[in-house]
Amino acid sequence: GVRGVSETAQAPSGELERVLIDEATLQRRVAELGEEIARAYQGKRPVLIGVLTGAFVFMADLVRHLPIDLDIDFMAVSSYGQATVTSGVVRIIKDLDRPIEGRDVLLVEDIIDSGLTLQYLLDVLQRRNPRSLRVVVLLRKQKPGAVSVRADWVGFDIPDEFVVGYGLDAAGRFRNLPFIAVYRNAAQG
Ligand code: 5GP
Ligand code: MG
Ligand code: MG
Repeated sequence: GVRGVSETAQAPSGELERVLIDEATLQRRVAELGEEIARAYQGKRPVLIGVLTGAFVFMADLVRHLPIDLDIDFMAVSSYGQATVTSGVVRIIKDLDRPIEGRDVLLVEDIIDSGLTLQYLLDVLQRRNPRSLRVVVLLRKQKPGAVSVRADWVGFDIPDEFVVGYGLDAAGRFRNLPFIAVYRNAAQG
């Protein structure tokens, strides 16, 4: 199988097609993003909002590269269920613990695919009158027809393929992989 995948013993049937972004590359980029973001919020105390569940690994690594005062909150939304195609429907399953009015908000997302989830979240958060609202997203797919949505920091632009690992799942699995891999659904051949 794929190098780095066989050792995990998680994909005996070749569900992971190839490693797209290896662990060292991820870590280097997250450290870079941390430096840029820390500079942007110097002297401020932003609240970072992680979008559960996919962003939890990225968020955990990112905050350790942010030597500034900050708060952490999470929001859980559902758009996909177990399917790998977008429904366009976004539901808030867990809202923020605290108000963000007057705060400098940084939304931390795992991936922009159609852009619908991020667009919806930005609308919801903007209506709560934060002082500023910015976005860092680890992965952005190059997808024809995706809604164009603002991302202030992007980790990697990737091809339009379904990926797993580093927080991202396929039906709940593979979130714990320390790298990003392309997932091949058996049904897709
Ligand atoms: P969008 O609303 O931009 O189409 O999709 C956003 C959400 O769909 C992401 O936050 C993520 O949860 C899920 N998603 C989109 N593309 C992928 C992918 O390639 N792999 C995984 N595991 N989830 C994805
Ligand atoms: Mg997400
Ligand atoms: Mg998912």
